[in-house]
Amino acid sequence: ETPLLEVRDLKKYYPVSSPLGRGQVVKAVDGISFSVPQGTTLGLVGESGCGKSTVGRSVLNLQPPTSGAVRFQGRDILSTSRKEWRALRREMQIVFQDPFSSLNGRKRIRTLLEEPFHIHGMGTGTLQQELDTLLDLVGLPKNSLNKFPHEFSGGQRQRIVIARAIALRPKFIVCDEPVSALDVSVQSQIVNLFRRLQRELGLTYLFISHDLSVVHHISDHIGVMYLGKMVELSTNDNIYTRPAHPYTLALLSSVPLPDPVEQRSRAKIILTGDLPSPMNPPSGCRFHTRCPFAEARCSVEEPSWREIRKDHWVACHFPKMASDGGGQHVPSA
Ligand code: SF4
Ligand code: MG
Repeated sequence: ETPLLEVRDLKKYYPVSSPLGRGQVVKAVDGISFSVPQGTTLGLVGESGCGKSTVGRSVLNLQPPTSGAVRFQGRDILSTSRKEWRALRREMQIVFQDPFSSLNGRKRIRTLLEEPFHIHGMGTGTLQQELDTLLDLVGLPKNSLNKFPHEFSGGQRQRIVIARAIALRPKFIVCDEPVSALDVSVQSQIVNLFRRLQRELGLTYLFISHDLSVVHHISDHIGVMYLGKMVELSTNDNIYTRPAHPYTLALLSSVPLPDPVEQRSRAKIILTGDLPSPMNPPSGCRFHTRCPFAEARCSVEEPSWREIRKDHWVACHFPKMASDGGGQHVPSA
């Protein structure tokens, strides 16, 4: 079966504009491949600056990639006509991090929710029916329509943003750090809303977050990015219980586990050193400057992308396997 979204060897390079970096390029995304089956969520995780937001904007062609292929329902979105693109665009939406800046504060909620219909045309019901249904779907009270964004809390504003995104019943939504600006107590409510909408509307998500525990709560598959590269990609369960890439282990080290016994047996990897510049990434494996398992080969030879078990891909010369403890592997000092 064709996945809803298929991305092959996606690259996004930017020329550097600052005087110090003139003539250089930033390889924000440097050859990434993945696919997202219909009705599922791929979580994309990594530190800020790793390129995950660029991936999200590139697959919607909001930032046209430098090279690579992006197929949506089997069609290459990078080579569609304007007319085709308009039709495709209503199937693909994006929700950003900041519900404060993504809503125009001078407009009432009614106007904000009507806009998608004015731009792309109506569905079957009347406009009022559509708005009522939207409020229902995202769990906002009926009397919201005549209010302004500032009359709502952060979580409620994100509900309004989500209502706009689902107004035209898209198939696919890029969620770019959609809960990162919210209080922790509100984050799980919004994540649960995304999950419920996925079930009810059959949505497919690319869910981007720097927070692995957030991604864990919503994803079927998880991809881990480091400096423009995908370093590990597998099922949520494999990433959580059998991580193979040292960087994934490091990210997991900071995620609390509900089970204290598991917590104690899991390797603690504290990353040292700063994130290197994507303008001048380290040779060989880009993680070698911070990896506690690095050997001589790692700074010379770039690890290939390989499948270490079914549906579990990793780019590392020395992946941690279940036989050597998987996520329990502890580096010698
Ligand atoms: Fe660490 Fe080497 Fe694997 Fe890179 S290839 S993650 S440096 S062990
Ligand atoms: Mg970002």
